[in-house]
Amino acid sequence: MGEFELIRRYFLPLAGQQKSRTLILGPGDDCAIQRIPAGRDLVFSMDTLVEGVHFPRNYRPDYLGWRALAVAASDLAAMGASPECFTLALTIPTADEQWLAGFAGGLRRASKAFGLVLAGGDTTSGPLTLTLQVHGTVEQGAAIRRTGARPGDLVAVSGTLGDAGAALDYLNEANPSPDIAAVLDRYHSPRPRLALGISSRGVASAAVDVSDGLLADLEHILEASEVGARIDSARIPVSPHLKRLKGDAALGYALRSGDDYELCLTIPAECWRTAPDAIRNELSVIGTVESRPGLVLDGKPCGADTGFDHFKGSP
Ligand code: ADP
Ligand code: MG
Repeated sequence: MGEFELIRRYFLPLAGQQKSRTLILGPGDDCAIQRIPAGRDLVFSMDTLVEGVHFPRNYRPDYLGWRALAVAASDLAAMGASPECFTLALTIPTADEQWLAGFAGGLRRASKAFGLVLAGGDTTSGPLTLTLQVHGTVEQGAAIRRTGARPGDLVAVSGTLGDAGAALDYLNEANPSPDIAAVLDRYHSPRPRLALGISSRGVASAAVDVSDGLLADLEHILEASEVGARIDSARIPVSPHLKRLKGDAALGYALRSGDDYELCLTIPAECWRTAPDAIRNELSVIGTVESRPGLVLDGKPCGADTGFDHFKGSP
């Protein structure tokens, strides 16, 4: 099967499955065309996933298709952007049809679930690597940046943290218990918080998605906003599965492990009081923003936790 046959068979059908409000021309020409309505900003981001670095070798292709788009879409959620479309640069060692069918299936489900239409891409041979660019839009000036946190704002996180990181301990489990199956699902099928991001526009002062670990990602907001924060470990949301599996070690996963793709937001206290239930019900308040730089956990300064760095490795 040649390059064009491969694209036609596995990727063009994905593009046709749904309409986008802004995509005027999808794959098939030299470029795609997107029309941004007057008064909206284009918000876009690119993510690369390398086999053996971002996902295990011989990873199930349907999981990979879902995960790749979920991870990219999570950055749109963190900006409060409405999802529009994406491009896919796919590098594969061989045109393995079974692999391609699985991958395209996972990608198709994610594309539908997140409202992101395939706009085009590039297909090459080489070591398995995926690069996705996602496009979203917001009302002009409404994107939630990392720079907006102010002293007195509350620090909040969505969902529960640590499950996806704990899942790495069980990737080869042949007969997973229900608790192990639950954390594995968090790793294989991340659900980016797109709806929460959109409803947080005009409420949150800053936001980041938790990809590298809560401490590391909150630190990004604090640095960008030139503030500090106090957080309380007892308020960090942990799932019952993680508690049962890891006992006292659960908190360490919730603070330091990545891949959960929840949102960490800062919210001015008066905005929190008047926030709609759609937002309040999704979030746990874990602390407050302070003028003094640095992150304080349970009253103790917590050393810079920089998360995984591709050139330095894990801290
Ligand atoms: P060109 O050589 O003009 O850059 P390509 O041969 O790379 O174009 O791609 C032909 C068309 O197929 C383009 O519209 C491109 O967006 C689309 N395409 C290529 N690979 C993919 C892919 N993996 N997913 C979706 N569309 C793709
Ligand atoms: Mg061309």
